[in-house]
Amino acid sequence: MDFRIGFGYDSHRFGENRPLFLGGVEIPYEKGLVAHSDGDALIHALCDALLGAASLDDIGTHFPDTAAEFKSIDSKILLERVMFLIEQKGFAVNNADMTIVAEKPKMAPYTDSLKNVLARLLKISEDKIAIKAKTNEGMGFTGQGEGIATFAVVTLINSSTN
Ligand code: MG
Repeated sequence: MDFRIGFGYDSHRFGENRPLFLGGVEIPYEKGLVAHSDGDALIHALCDALLGAASLDDIGTHFPDTAAEFKSIDSKILLERVMFLIEQKGFAVNNADMTIVAEKPKMAPYTDSLKNVLARLLKISEDKIAIKAKTNEGMGFTGQGEGIATFAVVTLINSSTN
């Protein structure tokens, strides 16, 4: 059996008059994350962790931010495509562990919703997903409220013989 671990990181800056998407869920907040896509930094970190674990390059290689096809795209669609790519190599997700670094908004009221959405997309049960949220104690770009940083670790299993 082939067992893999993957790590992903992402960050985006806040901008005015945009919805805030994290983990496939719209979070009520006065600002959103600026990006070519919908700015869902948590899903982007998760995609990079999955691709990394399967030795499949990174999210920027598969979905270039210069491509009109991906303008304002729902990042859940990107995650579905990443799942297809890792499944083609015979991998399935075992578990996922994520951290969101944001001074605001408070994420605790939404983590159950995020787990529900991500469990469906990753094809695992919610008890195999962990989502932690931290502030950065007022330090740096996350602490100053300029943006959000995200980290994700996943494990994959490949029970096929190839
Ligand atoms: Mg991103």
